[in-house]
Amino acid sequence: MRFQDLVESQTVISKVIQNSIVMNKVGHAYIFSGDYEPFLIETAQLFAKALFCESPEGAEPCGVCRNCRRMDSKNIVDYIEVEPDGASIKKEQIQQLLSDLSLRGAEGDRQVYVIHQAHKMTTQAANSLLKFFEEPGVGKLAILVTTQPQLLLPTIRSRAQQLAFRPIDRTKLAETMSEELACTYDMAYLALTVYPKWEEAKEALHQEWFVQAYGLVVQLIEVLTKRPQELILFAQEKWLGHFKGRNEMRVGLELFEIWLEEALNMKVRDSYTPKIFTNEASLYGEFVQNRSVQKIARAIESVHDAIRRLEANVNPQLTFERLSFDLQKG
Ligand SMILES: [Zn+2]
Repeated sequence: MRFQDLVESQTVISKVIQNSIVMNKVGHAYIFSGDYEPFLIETAQLFAKALFCESPEGAEPCGVCRNCRRMDSKNIVDYIEVEPDGASIKKEQIQQLLSDLSLRGAEGDRQVYVIHQAHKMTTQAANSLLKFFEEPGVGKLAILVTTQPQLLLPTIRSRAQQLAFRPIDRTKLAETMSEELACTYDMAYLALTVYPKWEEAKEALHQEWFVQAYGLVVQLIEVLTKRPQELILFAQEKWLGHFKGRNEMRVGLELFEIWLEEALNMKVRDSYTPKIFTNEASLYGEFVQNRSVQKIARAIESVHDAIRRLEANVNPQLTFERLSFDLQKG
């Protein structure tokens, strides 16, 4: 990605970042907030690359110097990314980060660290980071990436500059990706929605597992629509054999949620045509015919509850069985 690619969709943010680089007025902490994390992270990486580049043109990184190549291969010691460990970012992780920052810094004055899903910092983690914000030292830049900025501590928000990204046109992204990888638009859109990173979405599209996951979600809906009494049996015989770990289960549930949301759209808006699972028009029809708006909304809420339980480390199998009961009850 280059700044020129960013200008069209994020004109203001692109300007703010480029100006800060060119005028040498980069702050010590930014919050990148928006609806699609991979894009926010890619922009954070571009920001860092521009700062490390040995011969930028304006703010645009050259792409060929030693540091640009190191950034591309994620092999640069002064650039650190922190991701949640399970459901949260813990105090120990922030302490490790701060200790890494103080030990490193050998290759230049500039150090950039990016915190993914920053809203998942525990209060203790956020407080450790805040102490650091008070005396960040020269050249250190924090980029906190989040899709839920309202969940950050107010003290964090007030000490960082917030850049709110405009919503991403996922439709366009999915079109580009489906052309690039020669897969269907449906599959590209679903992968982009359920995987938090581009690379993971791309990898999923190359794998049979994801294609089968799609098929199983359709089967789940068929069972729920035509033979709801067989739901538990379906869970045990089919679903649980495919969606095994916590993350696989999350993917399955989120795919199902996308279906439910499209069904809800169909129910509340006359002449709405679902944009996803487009091959399943007749199943959509049958599904919404015998369900009230409230019933579909309750199903979505049940899926949310299930995802929350997974994040709280409840066993995936139990989580899905509980969901099956909830869905059967309606
Ligand atoms: Zn360069």
